[in-house]
Amino acid sequence: MTARMRLKPEAVGVGMTSQRVRDRLIERLRAGPVPGAGITDERVLNAIRTVPRHLFVDEAFATRAYEDTALPIGHGQTISQPWVVAKMTEALFADRAQPKKVLEIGTGSGYQGAILAALGLEVFTVERIGDLLRQARKRFRALGLTVRSRHDDGRIGWPEAAPFDAIVVTAAAPALVDALTEQLAPGGTLVAPVGGADAQSLLRLRKDAEGRITREDLGPVVFVPLLSGMLD
Ligand code: SAH
Repeated sequence: MTARMRLKPEAVGVGMTSQRVRDRLIERLRAGPVPGAGITDERVLNAIRTVPRHLFVDEAFATRAYEDTALPIGHGQTISQPWVVAKMTEALFADRAQPKKVLEIGTGSGYQGAILAALGLEVFTVERIGDLLRQARKRFRALGLTVRSRHDDGRIGWPEAAPFDAIVVTAAAPALVDALTEQLAPGGTLVAPVGGADAQSLLRLRKDAEGRITREDLGPVVFVPLLSGMLD
């Protein structure tokens, strides 16, 4: 499966965001921020190579879109660092998992959701800031990606669409959110940053066929906080 096939070719972009610049990012992701932390899943690397990240940031930051760094997207929020997006996505496919339906909490720019959609997953995403969600929806449309989205407090998940084979939480909380763990299907995987405001651990939870939960720490990450309520 190639991610490229799912995108409108005219939207993928060239120039300062050339394939060479994107390939350099892929090499950085393979190497990893520290030894041993490289991304190895070729499907994930291919999706990152294909989805035009420069369309998910403000024009002022477009020249930096293929650096392995988080960037501001307004409202005090950030588009996640590509390595973090890759790591979370890879974690959903680890142990031969074949997720089909995924829930993302924290749409933000829409980049993580677009990567998941480009990988062929059925994506549901929830964002509490209406303005960010509206911009993300425009990007999904421009790229021809099907992503179902909702303006809501994602801490309640998306109960009507549950259960999900995979859940990705892209904002940090001091503890795992029970409502989300409950919406995970047997055999499913949830990844979430859990910890304090300054730094968190990226946790990977698996729910087995009997509903038993195991967890694994994938290492330190820094995310913006998971907040309550909604903003327009
Ligand atoms: N996945 C995003 C990263 C966004 S940063 C991307 O690829 O760009 C985290 C996002 O989570 C922010 O947009 C923030 O508004 C949102 N968020 C924080 N708390 C939330 C909540 N309770 N429900 C839904 N979204 C939330």
